[in-house]
Amino acid sequence: MAAPDVQQPLSAIGCDACQSVVQSDGQQDVAFLLLDQLTISVLSCDEHLEQFSSVCGLTSEDTADLLHHRPAGGVSCPGCRLAPYNSSHPLIQVQDGALIPMACPKHQSKIVQRFHTGLQTQQQLTTGLDTTSSL
Ligand SMILES: [Zn+2]
Ligand SMILES: [Zn+2]
Repeated sequence: MAAPDVQQPLSAIGCDACQSVVQSDGQQDVAFLLLDQLTISVLSCDEHLEQFSSVCGLTSEDTADLLHHRPAGGVSCPGCRLAPYNSSHPLIQVQDGALIPMACPKHQSKIVQRFHTGLQTQQQLTTGLDTTSSL
């Protein structure tokens, strides 16, 4: 199993919208991903936010919710609440875009794990349909 590569250089982001959001360093609107008990602030463009949440949703019996405002209950984990103020966050590659989860290390690795599990599920779902198109 390949280790999740979350340290993509900015130049690897093919999506202009993602790149400007990521480079804005949190000055842009932060979205909130709600997945099971997880509430995680995420930074990405709308398109890739949707993709990320739908992939993560594959790992849950519920669908992942995407909010563009702070959820009513707020972020329950104190580490995650402070995370946006930390300077370094990993970059998760979402197709040709990127997403930054602003969470504490524990929840960060959780959401990365969910995403990669979701990707595998998605691959299994799409295998056999059209494997000729290259990325
Ligand atoms: Zn994007
Ligand atoms: Zn946390």
